[in-house]
Amino acid sequence: MKTILVREHGGPEKLEMAEVPTPRPGPGQALVRIAAAGVNFIDIYFRTGLYKADLPAALGSEGAGTVEAVGPDVADLRPGDRVAYAMARGSYSEYALVPAAQLVKIPGSVDFATAAAAMLQGMTAHYLTHSTYPLKSGEACLVHAAAGGAGGLTVQMARMRGARVFGTVSTDEKARIAREHGADEAIVYTRQDFEAEVKRLTNGAGVDVVYDSVGNTTFEKSLNCLRPRGLLALFGQSSGPVPPFDPSILNAKGSLFLTRPSLAHYVAKRDELLWRAGDVLGWVASGKLKLRIDRTYPLAQAAAAQRDLESRRTAGKLVLTVP
Ligand code: NDP
Repeated sequence: MKTILVREHGGPEKLEMAEVPTPRPGPGQALVRIAAAGVNFIDIYFRTGLYKADLPAALGSEGAGTVEAVGPDVADLRPGDRVAYAMARGSYSEYALVPAAQLVKIPGSVDFATAAAAMLQGMTAHYLTHSTYPLKSGEACLVHAAAGGAGGLTVQMARMRGARVFGTVSTDEKARIAREHGADEAIVYTRQDFEAEVKRLTNGAGVDVVYDSVGNTTFEKSLNCLRPRGLLALFGQSSGPVPPFDPSILNAKGSLFLTRPSLAHYVAKRDELLWRAGDVLGWVASGKLKLRIDRTYPLAQAAAAQRDLESRRTAGKLVLTVP
């Protein structure tokens, strides 16, 4: 089978299309014939070495396709089932071995590219708005990169929960997209001071929660946007990792809470995975949640897709299709 591998860390040029034997599923596993794979920053972090994996490393943490074969003890899946998953590596490939416990069935009306696009960022937006800080009607939140993949879905789910949503974006076009997702206000943080804007929009009160995927360039001001005892969910670092800091700043800025969550810990239990994936795929099927697929690429152009994601020019999801 054809698969994308990284033999040494570095830029997108390190992605290599390799021919390797198609694996056979062991106990607890299913072999999935991949139809579409989502492209995510986590793939870039495994490529650069920011996140650790043994080399050569298979890439791609999100996929959708058809079950080809199952391991001896897998009872609830059979060949031909349409499935999707997130947080198992190796989806930039014609086939992937996936723990059966991480697979969910795709509703009949949802195509593979849509399912692959929905899982990782959709379940992330779900856990952020429903579990990390379960927003209540009338509360206010700030979502950075609100026209982005995870950001755009977080805006939509925050609105579903009845919150007032402020979003940051880098351009006027992205501001339009953030508003389309449901943001009440879109702050162009490349020319506006988002801290001052949030204070102005909340009459100085601050927001209950900030969902921050940008990291280095936004971290400090994100803390300043919170009400006393508010929560910063720092869930990513598209601008680079946040450097070490003195925790007493949480005290100085108002007894704040800080968490650095990962999707893996919010879908580790099967019932939690089924809840989040069921909501996300169900809302996509019914039209309640709008996925914005910015671009699709053939598997062979995975490097181009990663370059585009890193370039800051995308607004929504990038998907690889596997012939
Ligand atoms: P996005 O679609 O949000 O793309 C990144 C966006 O970040 C850009 O479009 C850009 O929006 C903004 N950005 C700000 N500064 C930079 C910069 N210097 N370089 C590039 N982009 C920048 O990506 P994702 O939604 O896929 O992921 C965003 C982050 O969230 C990643 O760090 C990812 O790893 C993390 N994440 C974490 C998860 C978790 O469970 N912890 C799960 C999913 C994602 P703008 O132009 O508007 O500034």
